Amino acid sequence: MKIRTADFITSAAETGGCPEWEHPEFAFIGRSNVGKSSLVNMLVHRRHLAKVSSTPGKTRLLNFFLINRAWSLVDLPGYGYAKTSKTGKHEFNERVAGYLATRANLAHVFVLIDARHEPQRIDLAFIEWLVGNPATYSLVFTKADKQSPARNRASVARFLDAIAPLRRPPAREFLCSSTRGTGRDDLLRFIGDAARR
Ligand code: GDP
Repeated sequence: MKIRTADFITSAAETGGCPEWEHPEFAFIGRSNVGKSSLVNMLVHRRHLAKVSSTPGKTRLLNFFLINRAWSLVDLPGYGYAKTSKTGKHEFNERVAGYLATRANLAHVFVLIDARHEPQRIDLAFIEWLVGNPATYSLVFTKADKQSPARNRASVARFLDAIAPLRRPPAREFLCSSTRGTGRDDLLRFIGDAARR
């Protein structure tokens, strides 16, 4: 897929603030620092896009971008801020959980996982919650350039083992490096196919 246009549309604080349109939406979520902004920028080749999302005040919002005037990339707030207060957690539940559980045109959720780490409890807990919802999801392993292909393969296998007991497996796994552009073509092809459905 060629990226012809990529426009920031709006930031929403709640489901009610989401754009009213029919475009299929592809949501990206992960722990903060997992490499989400880098991946979004790498995907659409626009450096300012994820900058919008990291603007103070917008990191806790759902940020909607329209790509090729055909599908929407939704940059969701990161989960698992180390210093999140109880109130912050509550906000995560209401905003992100509400969106993921009820959004009619949510086509797919990409859950970002740092390829270097052992399966983290917070990621597993999030996926455990996610599979109780209708949306389909894939795993995107980030920062693949930071370790050997053998270690990456082992990480992916370990993570898949950890979520094997869950009732719904991921649709796909992607191995990505934003610095090298690894995984970009695969991800965009997957989105292109899913957006046409
Ligand atoms: P976010 O908090 O999830 O949006 O994470 P960022 O995209 O800001 O990335 C967090 C840190 O990891 C930054 O220092 C990035 O430069 C680095 N990073 C992100 N993706 C990659 C990658 O694919 N390879 C390498 N080597 N570093 C990365």
